[in-house]
Amino acid sequence: MFDSKTTTSFSALKRQDHLNELQAEEFDLLVIGGGATGCGIALDAASRGMKTALLEKVDFAAGTSSKSTKLIHGGLRYLKQFEVGLVRETGKERAIVHRLAPHLVLPEKMLLPITTNGTYGKWSASIGVMVYDLLAGVGGKDRRQMLDKKRTLELEPLLDESQLEGSCLYAEYRTDDARLTIELIKQATAYGAKAINYCTVKAFTYDDHKKVNGVQCLDELSGQSLVVKAKHVVSAGGPWVDQLRTLNGSKNGKQLHLTKGVHIVFPHHKLPLQHSVYFDVPDGRMIFAIPRGKITYVGTTDTSYKGSLDNIVATKEDANYLLEAINHAFPSIDLQLSDISSNWAGLRPLIHEEGKSPSELSRKDEIFESPSDLISIAGGKLTGYRRMAERIVDLVNSRLDESFGDCKTDKIPLVSHSLENSEQVNEYINQLKRHASSKSMSDYYCWYLVTTYGKQTEVILEKMKSFDDPDDLALARAELWYGVHHEMVNSLEDFFVRRTGRLYFDLESIAQVRESLTHDLSKYLNWDSTRIEDENKKLNLLISNATNYYESDVLV
Ligand code: FAD
Repeated sequence: MFDSKTTTSFSALKRQDHLNELQAEEFDLLVIGGGATGCGIALDAASRGMKTALLEKVDFAAGTSSKSTKLIHGGLRYLKQFEVGLVRETGKERAIVHRLAPHLVLPEKMLLPITTNGTYGKWSASIGVMVYDLLAGVGGKDRRQMLDKKRTLELEPLLDESQLEGSCLYAEYRTDDARLTIELIKQATAYGAKAINYCTVKAFTYDDHKKVNGVQCLDELSGQSLVVKAKHVVSAGGPWVDQLRTLNGSKNGKQLHLTKGVHIVFPHHKLPLQHSVYFDVPDGRMIFAIPRGKITYVGTTDTSYKGSLDNIVATKEDANYLLEAINHAFPSIDLQLSDISSNWAGLRPLIHEEGKSPSELSRKDEIFESPSDLISIAGGKLTGYRRMAERIVDLVNSRLDESFGDCKTDKIPLVSHSLENSEQVNEYINQLKRHASSKSMSDYYCWYLVTTYGKQTEVILEKMKSFDDPDDLALARAELWYGVHHEMVNSLEDFFVRRTGRLYFDLESIAQVRESLTHDLSKYLNWDSTRIEDENKKLNLLISNATNYYESDVLV
């Protein structure tokens, strides 16, 4: 049986204890922001032995870190912009993050079709992807393969035969960004970090030398105000980094340039791709189409953004752009707006460069240090979270009186008692399928459980036995129980969006389990009728945003 002890400190039922602990001591490092960047920093710092705290104003991964293309990749297109350093670093990170969480970072072969007048010709694809593999240290059977037209169509028959000349098949990895972030913060707390969601930083506190020495914050769930003290404060606020720099009076010099990226989701039978494809769009950009379980998702757009940071929506223009791109690449399909089952929209916190268009802006991360010693980090990729964290924690380490040694996160599996490699992951899925065949649990849920929770699935399956419901409902109830007790689930939204991804990948299941789960959650967290009503309203808005297309971005 999987030993779940390490994660019990991350129970939503211990919220008040967490709030008390945050106020009880001075931390070496306080991190603002519970996205992949902040949670990665918390894990690095805590595993070096620093007293570490992290505050997140919504939920872990509620910002950009649940809205990405969900690839752990070096970014082939950045090579064209000569971002060799970025591609080398993120390319190498792929294999490391896969090793740390093989159930969550899965190898995914990507098909790059070569078409008449496309971005890549045969030679440029062959050489470009060879360099990409070399920079990332990809070898053996994973090296890129150049395929002729016939073989390409065997792999993906929906491609436009009339334009196709061949393809390049190369190695990438796929993940669930929100789950990756949750596992990072769970592991950070297993190393002693104190982390809490729904706690907004409202102001910084300063010592006599005008140096930041903590923050004032608000517990959004109870209305309680608190002060958290720390020797060093790092802002990993993603798109909110400039707002936090404004609070600190240090928003000068380089600023963020936010660009919006939208993905749209289709039931798999509407866009029945057999392969992940990275294909040309008529305007010269390239986008991904990625089959995953019951759905295929497509993205992304890349447009400058001036709207609300807290309510980012997909517009009709975004959806139509992506629809046109798909119908162009897969002409036998003819998809309509009404075929889309859901969508997500997120913001890239990029660094502004005068005169550059959104797609030309660098994806490199950058560190800002204010005169009052606030350290902020922005830009970067999900894939590079570990190296970004290392740079930040090295900087903090150099400023502390005591030295906490070097980064060791390349050796810390993200889940205790982790599956060790893809073979073990596949064997575990097959084992569950064999076990589940006597029951009514579908193959889909066996795959879903393992690629969502890894070995932690055992705790959920054990709990499932205590619910006398049809299997799908009992499973959702067991997952919710797990989420509350081990993953700080504090709302319906936390569960349906970021712990399970159901809003995007299994939308219809929400209606089937929602009532029972609202009942369970209200019992676990002692909700009154007003809170239940609020929670339902919030979930309705999220479902509405994920299934509707606005005329324009929401401004406030
Ligand atoms: P965020 O995830 O936004 O985290 C910042 C957090 O700070 C938020 O949760 C926010 O609530 C919190 N916060 C803000 N203000 C406060 C406050 N006052 N108090 C407390 N908390 C606060 N990268 C890849 O590697 N692969 C991809 O396939 C990929 N695809 C992408 C596609 C799109 C459309 C986008 C937008 C990005 C993509 N990226 C990808 C980039 C990647 O998603 C981001 O680099 C990464 O998620 C940023 O994480 P973050 O932690 O810096 O920011």
